[in-house]
Amino acid sequence: MNNKSYLVIRAHFFNPLDKSHWEDIPDGALCYDEDGRITAFGTSEEVLKKFPLGRYCELIDYSDYFIIPAFVDVHLHAPQFNCRGFYSDNLLEWLDNFIFAEEEKFAGSAYASNIATELYKGMVSYGIGTASIYGSVHPNATDILLSKGAKTPMKLAIGKVMMDRTDYETTEESINQSLELYNKWDGKNGGRIKYSFTPRFAPACTEKLLKEVGRIVSRNKALCQTHLSETIGELELVKKMFPDYGSYTEVYSRNNLLQKGSIVAHGIHLTDEEYVILKDSGCGVAHCPDSNMFLHSGRMNITKMFENDIRIGLGSDIGAGSTLSPFNSMKMMIYSHGISDITPEMAFYFATLGGAEIIGFGDITGNFKVGKDADFIVVRKPKKVPHNNNYTRQVLSHLIFCNGEHHIKAVYLKGERVY
Ligand SMILES: [Zn+2]
Repeated sequence: MNNKSYLVIRAHFFNPLDKSHWEDIPDGALCYDEDGRITAFGTSEEVLKKFPLGRYCELIDYSDYFIIPAFVDVHLHAPQFNCRGFYSDNLLEWLDNFIFAEEEKFAGSAYASNIATELYKGMVSYGIGTASIYGSVHPNATDILLSKGAKTPMKLAIGKVMMDRTDYETTEESINQSLELYNKWDGKNGGRIKYSFTPRFAPACTEKLLKEVGRIVSRNKALCQTHLSETIGELELVKKMFPDYGSYTEVYSRNNLLQKGSIVAHGIHLTDEEYVILKDSGCGVAHCPDSNMFLHSGRMNITKMFENDIRIGLGSDIGAGSTLSPFNSMKMMIYSHGISDITPEMAFYFATLGGAEIIGFGDITGNFKVGKDADFIVVRKPKKVPHNNNYTRQVLSHLIFCNGEHHIKAVYLKGERVY
């Protein structure tokens, strides 16, 4: 050991490794240094041998608690934070009735600033340490969102919405404003802040804009987020607006928007060819089951996603999603699919490491691998869960189905207690 100081956290740890593998360590420990970087993880015996307690190495004893990695929300809209639960029976009407008017309020910095503060406060209270976030069409409001995010230990991919087929902006304005924000913010906070180019969805964008964004993101390996095949009505619109393309997915792939680091939200109504395009591109899909049920959009075909090895992560899709709670997203995910398709352990993977990997933060968060940020949630163990060999699965299940957010005792991001 050198002169650095360390903290050792002792608890019952659940650590997702991939969709079907995880570590369950009842007497575990996590050690991290003063920079919030994990230096050891395993049984408490192993960790304490490597990092014995003493001067410069202190213990925080959470032995009676359960610890999971901090959550990742792969798709949410900051300017829709105040629109949760506004009823409409389909996406396009909902956008026209409520969303465009609410997003207009972000032309003013004061409103944008307040919502950014409220959003980040809400996120940490649910244990969310990482997210991919849509801003509004306004560069000022998006700059505020990025600047407030950069003052936190969160890992954030954020972009100004691009929608040049509307009166809000021209193609040139959209590109120039986005590039300016990209140059100012991408890679800040030691790579914890990334700029994500954000064409709203194909119907709001011209082909010229999509082409230009595709050129920028493929040349710079920059992040990109958009929506894909959320509803049938949207699909019809895309067919009319882009008659030269074979499918909705092709509108993005032929314009080079799909690559590793790109996230398309929803991906519900897809043909077999489109699953193959998604797989070959290496992009990720944001699965937002709460939002899909709320807007009656349809149900993602998770079997096809798995068969095609398409990477997915969980998103709240605020404001069509009703809550930031990842516990709710996991519950809706399990409800949306067939028996045993999604176990509690798998749901936790998609809400943590799976999500981190598709945003491009998989090397710094999502689980307790040495070298990553110490991002974790301390959870009170549900008292009613019987102590048998299925104990951990039942704890995870109880948290998912019985509003796990009420069990959160503390949230740490990059080793700092933030909640
Ligand atoms: Zn969305």
